[in-house]
Amino acid sequence: MSRSVSRVSAPGRGADLVVVSVSAPAERAPAGRGPVVVVTANLHGDECTGTGAVLRLIPILEAQLLSGTVHLYPSLNPDGLERRVRRFPEDDQDLNRLFPGDPSGAPGERLAHAAWTDLTARRPDLVVDLHADAPGAVPYALLDRAVSLQGEARVRLEAEAARLAVATGLTVIREYPDDRYLRFRLDRSLSGAALNRLSVPTVTIEAGPRLVLDADAVDVTVRAVLGMLSAIGMLAAAPPPAVTPMPGGPWRRESGPRASAKGVLVPRVGPGVLLDKGAVVAEIRSLAGLLLQEVVAEAPGFVLAPAERAYVVAGVPICTWAMAEHP
Ligand SMILES: [Zn+2]
Repeated sequence: MSRSVSRVSAPGRGADLVVVSVSAPAERAPAGRGPVVVVTANLHGDECTGTGAVLRLIPILEAQLLSGTVHLYPSLNPDGLERRVRRFPEDDQDLNRLFPGDPSGAPGERLAHAAWTDLTARRPDLVVDLHADAPGAVPYALLDRAVSLQGEARVRLEAEAARLAVATGLTVIREYPDDRYLRFRLDRSLSGAALNRLSVPTVTIEAGPRLVLDADAVDVTVRAVLGMLSAIGMLAAAPPPAVTPMPGGPWRRESGPRASAKGVLVPRVGPGVLLDKGAVVAEIRSLAGLLLQEVVAEAPGFVLAPAERAYVVAGVPICTWAMAEHP
């Protein structure tokens, strides 16, 4: 049996973290350590697609892994999973802005530190973090910015992460530009911290709605992970991707156009439809049906994920947008 299970003690009253490690058996693996990959899921407690994907990946990897080791964390926020909330319940913090954590900080910072310490001790060559976005969203592979590196080192690391993101078969989305990346503390997300502090490629996969195990989203995520493992020689072949990536790009994440009126948000165009600047994305109507605003695209691109709301007030973005990023 090439599977082993270990636990990470959570500080305070929290549930321990489970880690399932699958290594290629000696008869399949060539000599040497082989690549080490860490796959994390459910850092946001209401985003369980990754948990379902990890449960599916374990037997597949046991049967097929050719070299190296994959360490799978089915939930980095088991208390959030149980309570169906995004944040860490004990102190209501977003764990995905706290890495590498603080052993003497608030409960969420201590949990992030415990997870980080366990993960880094495994010396990963690749970190994959699994999330969910919104119902109907385009599934995507999200790339962090290597803001702590400069020159050739940054170019090389970002290119390797991009190569692996393409191997997911999903639409590849780059994070916000550097200034907002830092302002939103995305360098302190798990994937951002791993990219910037460990200098290893990281890819975040966003698929499916929150709160439920959506079979299609789990399948998309499983195939995306297998595609990356195949690209680094840990599997002979990966199943074909479940979806087709958006043409064009490179794409980057952008805040969607904002409501300037208060009312019912009526989408006019679904996610994944290429639009020109000025195209109508949604309408805002009063409860009596009066058209209050046509919300238009501010740049060419597409709706990546709709806002999970049917009623908006002025200033609220109506979606997450994907726009072309030009060098
Ligand atoms: Zn998330």
